[in-house]
Order: sequence, then structure tokens, then C-alpha cells
Amino acid sequence: MHLEAKGVKFTDSPTRIHQLLCLFHFFPNPVSQNEMDQWIRDFGGQNDRQARHLAWDGWYIQTGNRKSTRMEVSHDLSSDQLQLVSITEANPIWVKHNFDLQKEQHENPEFFHVKKIFSKRGCSMCGYKSDSLQSFRIENHTSNQINIVPLCNLCILWCDKYSIKLVLSKRLIARPLMEDLQ
Ligand SMILES: [Zn+2]
Repeated sequence: MHLEAKGVKFTDSPTRIHQLLCLFHFFPNPVSQNEMDQWIRDFGGQNDRQARHLAWDGWYIQTGNRKSTRMEVSHDLSSDQLQLVSITEANPIWVKHNFDLQKEQHENPEFFHVKKIFSKRGCSMCGYKSDSLQSFRIENHTSNQINIVPLCNLCILWCDKYSIKLVLSKRLIARPLMEDLQ
């Protein structure tokens, strides 16, 4: 199967499977959240309205929601509609994301490793979760061997502007060296 070779995952969550079946049922046409609710309910299931997560399993779904960053936004769709675009191609944004990850693993293995450590935390300082966190060098006061941490753009700007040095707490949260904040 084309998609399996591309790493697209077939979810094992019943809700996600129902959502996927619904998108296939309406394919190649869009489906609104209410239509999906009704379609799934007719089969005795429940819709959590989070079908967008299927895009990050690799499914090529478009949305009308302009705020989406993990799916292509289609201007032909209303903000509450999703559309399965292809059953042979994977989500191009997800494909590029995976490509960039592989590239990073190759070119910057230290940051790749550190991002895994902070995968639940996100930005090591504020906790913001983003696909575009950047590497920031910290003062290593402990023996945990961590010399860089992922930071969001806002935290990086702040640290740069005020020449803040960061240290890691025992719970692996990045905190400013307070003696610098005077
Ligand atoms: Zn942050």
C-alpha cells in the first residue's frame, strides 16, 4: 500500500478510526463537524471533534480552519470542514516535518536528542509546544550532560535582549540565573 510505505499510521483509537472511515465515506468531498457527528452517531459511535489529529498520523486532510499549521488550509472549505484529499499521497506538511526531523537528526544530533528529552515539556522555559523550537545554550551547573535546551521564539528573544543565562532545575525546567536579573 502506498501510504504504509510512506509511514502513514493506521490509528488504533476507535474514535479516530470512525473519523477516518467517515472521511473515506465522504471522499473526495468535504465533511463538516456536524455531518461527522451525525455519521458516527448513526453507527453508535462518538465523535470527539478532534479528527484533525489524523493529519499528524500522515493522512492527507485539508481544513478550512485558517489557524491550522499541520494541515493545508483550503479556501474552498468552511472553517468547520475537513476533506480527505488523497488516499495515495500523505499529508505534505507532515512529510516535510519528518524530512526536516531526519535532516536535523543527521546535522544536529545533540539538539535532536535534547528535543526528545523535552518532548512533553515543549519550550524548556515556558512550556509552549511548537514544531519550531530552537536550540539555546545554557550554563551547565549539574551533571546531567545537557548543554542546550529547546526554546520558543519569545523566550529566545527575551533571553537575548536581557543577556539572560539559563540553568536547568532538577525537574528539567530552564530558569534564568537570577543574579543576572538586577
Ligand atoms: Zn518559551
